[in-house]
Amino acid sequence: MAKIVIVGAGFAGHYAALVGADALKRKGQHEITVISRVPKFTYIPSLVWVGVAQMEAEETQFDLKPVYDKMKINYIHGTVTEVHPDEQYVVAELPNGEKQQVDYDFVLIATGPYLNFAATPGLGPENGYTQSICTPPHATKAASEYLELVKRLEKGDKAKIVIGTGHGLATCQGAAFEYICNVHNDLVDRGLRDKVEIMWLSNEPRLGDFGIDGLEAKMGSLIYTSEMMAEALFDEYDIKWEIRSHVRKVEDGKIYTVNLDGEEKEFDFDFAMLIPPFKAQPIKWIDKDGNDITEKMCNPAGFVKVDANYGKPYEELDGPDWPKKYQNPIYKNVFAAGIAFAPPGPLSQPGKAPDGTPIGPTPPRTGYTAELSGKAAILNIIDMIEGKEPSHTASMAETPGLCVASMKNHWITGEAATIAIYPVARNYEKYPEYGRDLDLCVAEIGLAGSWFKALLHYAFLYKLQAKPGWKLIP
Ligand SMILES: Cc1cc2nc3c(=O)[nH]c(=O)nc-3n(C[C@H](O)[C@H](O)[C@H](O)COP(=O)(O)OP(=O)(O)OC[C@H]3O[C@@H](n4cnc5c(N)ncnc54)[C@H](O)[C@@H]3O)c2cc1C
Repeated sequence: MAKIVIVGAGFAGHYAALVGADALKRKGQHEITVISRVPKFTYIPSLVWVGVAQMEAEETQFDLKPVYDKMKINYIHGTVTEVHPDEQYVVAELPNGEKQQVDYDFVLIATGPYLNFAATPGLGPENGYTQSICTPPHATKAASEYLELVKRLEKGDKAKIVIGTGHGLATCQGAAFEYICNVHNDLVDRGLRDKVEIMWLSNEPRLGDFGIDGLEAKMGSLIYTSEMMAEALFDEYDIKWEIRSHVRKVEDGKIYTVNLDGEEKEFDFDFAMLIPPFKAQPIKWIDKDGNDITEKMCNPAGFVKVDANYGKPYEELDGPDWPKKYQNPIYKNVFAAGIAFAPPGPLSQPGKAPDGTPIGPTPPRTGYTAELSGKAAILNIIDMIEGKEPSHTASMAETPGLCVASMKNHWITGEAATIAIYPVARNYEKYPEYGRDLDLCVAEIGLAGSWFKALLHYAFLYKLQAKPGWKLIP
């Protein structure tokens, strides 16, 4: 009997657990255990609507335990703090403070990001002055601060709103982009938009980069870009933008930045939502002699190394350098998926301010990428259980990216940008001109996208609760 331990129950870990349990049910007495710090699954994309007070956080969540009971998956509510890859066990800290050793034959690390607000003084909702929509409590707090601002605007005040990224190396620009559009449209609906200046602040090298090096798509015989799309939209919405920027610090009502040209700037704000940089969850890797081998197993940000080509400069990185099987090169029974795996480098052009401050988005591993990598990893584990070589691949240079960016959530007046790219990571070896197949790249704004976005919310929550027919939903 093989013991599989999955650490984390987000898009990567939870989906891997469902796919693994389903695949193993016909293959004998193997055991899957999920260890998750939070007892609920959160459909994070809908936190954008929570942050603008149009949805309650509970509507984005469900309890994991009943789903795991149904799928015959063991569940431990706890936080993994150590992995011992020689002795093949993890240490989980339980909610009551006790530590539990959990043995494994195979482990899949799917712990997502640690939100590193501390990298920018004054950033974040807990010890700083800015809001976040990255977790249910953060999005709920952002909504209540936003509604406070709305009250002031209703009394006749004017205000400044800044939305974007809070560090030169932050990622997840797409979420911030959705949020700024939703805030704009909500203020229009409330008749308050003329009282507010809204600004997009980001580390992107160009507008519409979104941390994926932007995208090109065909419109008849024309090629248009995400930069054109974002520029036209921000012009229409009267949103100013300040890009190529790192946030040095935030004080009450003031943001201090430096940009790639070395210009130091200050921006006043009454309400700001800035995405923090990500690093890995703090997990120690310890060998059989008690040595800390975290640096050997992980990149400097703590993300677990897998089968990527690490160490190449940005200019030389290409499709084949991206990981395919999500297997650690040192311990072959260790896998990592979703945001937890170490990418070989950024997708977007990195840069530096004249004083050396790095400015450029780190690569996103979106929900769909997280699911695909989690699925490949668990199926590879099952290959190994059956004595075969891992055969499942889901390279970001061979898989599509799908993002439906909500701009306004409404059945009749709603709007969303539907963005599909193939592949996510440019692959010049395969597509020499653009690195992507432009026949499969789409960027369109409209009401249909808004319906699709709402549909995705319900479809994912249905699928991930393993309800009847869940396997039919891609
Ligand atoms: C506001 C917002 C909107 C977004 N919108 C989209 C979108 O529209 N489309 C899209 O594709 N992507 C979107 N994303 C990105 C998407 O949410 C992430 O790519 C995805 O959540 C990554 O999945 P993951 O499984 O790697 O990590 P997560 O979803 O973060 O899951 C990690 C899990 O591990 C648990 N965990 C962490 N540490 C430990 C530990 N030590 N022990 C045990 N458990 C642990 C966490 O509690 C969590 O449950 C959005 C992100 C944000 C913030």
